[in-house]
Amino acid sequence: MSTTTKDESEPVADLNPRSMTYEFLGPPGAFLISFGVPFMTYLLYFGCSEESGGCPPPLQSIPDRFVEALSDKTFWASLWDTEASLIYLGWYAFCVVAWAVLPGDWVEGVTMRTGEKKKYKINAFSTFLFAMGISCGYIVRNGPESFTFLYQKWIGFVTASLVMSLVQAFYVYASSYRTGALLALGGNSGNFIYDWYIGRELNPSIGSFDIKSFNELRPGLILWVLVNMSMVCEQAVRRGGFANVTDSIWVVLAFQTWYVADGLYNEPAIFTTMDITTDGFGFMLAVGDLTWVPFVYSLQARYLVFKPVELGLLRTAGILAFNLLGYYIFRDANGEKNDFRNGRNPKNLKYFTTSTGSKLLTSGWWGRSRHPNYFGDLLMAFAWSLPTGFDTPITYFYVVYFAVLLIHRQRRDDENCEKKYGEDWETYKKLVPYRIIPYVY
Ligand code: NDP
Repeated sequence: MSTTTKDESEPVADLNPRSMTYEFLGPPGAFLISFGVPFMTYLLYFGCSEESGGCPPPLQSIPDRFVEALSDKTFWASLWDTEASLIYLGWYAFCVVAWAVLPGDWVEGVTMRTGEKKKYKINAFSTFLFAMGISCGYIVRNGPESFTFLYQKWIGFVTASLVMSLVQAFYVYASSYRTGALLALGGNSGNFIYDWYIGRELNPSIGSFDIKSFNELRPGLILWVLVNMSMVCEQAVRRGGFANVTDSIWVVLAFQTWYVADGLYNEPAIFTTMDITTDGFGFMLAVGDLTWVPFVYSLQARYLVFKPVELGLLRTAGILAFNLLGYYIFRDANGEKNDFRNGRNPKNLKYFTTSTGSKLLTSGWWGRSRHPNYFGDLLMAFAWSLPTGFDTPITYFYVVYFAVLLIHRQRRDDENCEKKYGEDWETYKKLVPYRIIPYVY
């Protein structure tokens, strides 16, 4: 089937201009982050696991063990696990087949520079339910010990996902050189390492299969929930059954499953995000989607396997309230914008019309800060770390990393909006002076 429609009124100018500015400190930054992300993923395991002696392991032992490991062939060999790689490949194939066979509506994305609109199949939530059904059925039938393999073979799975990210990044980079490819405005600098990292082609696809949106929503996000489920199973095995599993790990599983399910249920909302409309697909998004999300975001649950925490009713209720507050702000803010961008304004919010014809909300959440949705997201991130207690700062890594990511992302978006709206954006900034946290930042 054809997956693009064309709006004839759009002008077709020079579609793929050379990118003249760099982000992430240009090629040296891209080079460092490309090594840094895999390195950090491994480090968060070796720096916080029972295998390596704690979270963190005794500090004085780290330098010697680090040097010893790097010079030891068996350490390097232990990063690879053929069985884990085959299971990972099977998982990825499952997601592709589910995308192809599960029914779903085809919806249009935003208008691209070509004047065309891409069409996307909406069945990420059904894929999630299908995967949950099979996994839960499998666990009920075969017991928790049958689903601990993600905990047991952690490093093997990390490596398999890294290989998948690398393969995809090279593939999309090479295929972006075919004639007719629409490039990302920021991904066509001509520098190999930078374009490969940031993503050269805007929407790489194989037929009607859109690689970027598929990776954003399915193999990594759903795997994050499966990884958490595996952590609960590992705790259940160690503590003699699900009845003895601690409240803290259930809370983490519930919060993060809810977050993923919510994102997948609201699948069409992703088509107006920066990742889809502006960024190309390269190593940055591939490794973020496939490795970072499932194997770093699940750090709290993995920690709770070997350092179980009993919260009790009061602390559970407090953390739950905190998470719900974050979720409410996140969902309500995203809902207000999504409604508005789709021509609805049920709350009668105030707005002003820019000279481009596009409108900007100036009341409701978007009148309190320029990225209220990030504020809600950050509160939730904090609520996911609280169940691990305060014995280690490492389980709060996600909150710190996420704050840095969102602060940087807000600045990138501000720059993009300034280019888009010019003077009108300055006016909006005067009306809404706070970037993320109302009255604070
Ligand atoms: P947003 O959904 O926040 O969208 C930003 C765009 O909204 C702007 O470019 C602009 O585009 C439009 N906009 C800005 N101000 C207004 C206004 N006042 N009125 C109407 N429209 C406005 O961008 P993101 O893609 O960054 O975030 C999407 C969601 O994903 C967020 O909830 C975020 O927290 C989450 N996220 C989660 C991550 C994770 O790892 N868990 C990582 C990154 C994001 P235009 O005017 O062109 O419509």
